[in-house]
Amino acid sequence: MEKVVIIGTGCAGLTAALYTARANLKPLVLTGTLPGGLLTTTSIVENYPGFPEGIDGSELMNRMQKQAERFGARVKFGTVEAADLSRQPFVLSVDGEKVETETLIIASGASHRHLGLESEHKLECKGVTFCATCDGALPMFRNMPLVVVGGGDSACEEAMYLTRFGSVVYLVHRRDTLRASKIMAQRTLAHEKVKPVWDSVVTEVLDVKQDQVTGVRLKNLRTQKESVLACAGVFVAIGHIPNTQLFKGIIDMDENGYIIPSKRTMTNIPGVFVAGDCSDHVYRQAVTAAGLGCAAAIDVERYLAARNE
Ligand code: NAP
Repeated sequence: MEKVVIIGTGCAGLTAALYTARANLKPLVLTGTLPGGLLTTTSIVENYPGFPEGIDGSELMNRMQKQAERFGARVKFGTVEAADLSRQPFVLSVDGEKVETETLIIASGASHRHLGLESEHKLECKGVTFCATCDGALPMFRNMPLVVVGGGDSACEEAMYLTRFGSVVYLVHRRDTLRASKIMAQRTLAHEKVKPVWDSVVTEVLDVKQDQVTGVRLKNLRTQKESVLACAGVFVAIGHIPNTQLFKGIIDMDENGYIIPSKRTMTNIPGVFVAGDCSDHVYRQAVTAAGLGCAAAIDVERYLAARNE
């Protein structure tokens, strides 16, 4: 029987692992399908305190994991397929194996939001991607026009990264101002290779018949006019959806699936705690996720201490 199981190895999960390990709770930490979380798909992280020159996202996550393991956290590659939280101990099904635990920290993060187009789905990995740092350097994108969809920090980051490879990077945004932080927005729009396409949405990725990306069909939301923009790649960066489907109907969440804690980091189920992007749609920063992971770990420690008094 585990004292605490942590779902997720992003900033929230690994910080919770570090703190619960140092509290001698020997946490079992399950990676899910993306060990290290979303930061591993980013290039340089410039806003995590303590790294004045910035740090590579994967490198930061490797270091967090090592730090947690140094104090006894056990990080295991595994995905939770089912969770029985109706009685204690909680029972998780992890890749076919049963795991019993007194407490649970859900730090399952969030995944890339999709446009929801059939053509986007059909051309995924054939020119449509959700991660420039993972795929941007592929030969198919070299010296070719590329499209980034979105107006947030992620879209700006993707666009800047792609300027290394593409001949031109069109930034297609549904409004005429970026949501991104001022510094990112200014840097991106000032780049000679970045061409913003304002007030526009992608209505179709071309060309499913050719089984590769040749362009996008756009609709201008102000004029309603349609046009086609030739490109070899479409990088979708329109935000995230929380990875909480497993707990739907069991744990309180808002209409978008973000878990709503009921008392500090504890959910409506006593003994089940939450941390990071799966419960935070406001701040969504690496450092806030880490802070919430720390808070959840402290709450777990106090909850277990009170139970065993
Ligand atoms: P975001 O801030 O939520 O931005 C999503 C963007 O996609 C918005 O511009 C939004 O348009 C657009 N969008 C959403 N749904 C769309 C749809 N169906 N069709 C077309 N466009 C759509 O997400 P994010 O950029 O991934 O950033 C998430 C968080 O991570 C933010 O807090 C951000 O600051 C942080 N972040 C930081 C860094 C960094 O500092 N290095 C890098 C990446 C992310 P509207 O603007 O019209 O809503």
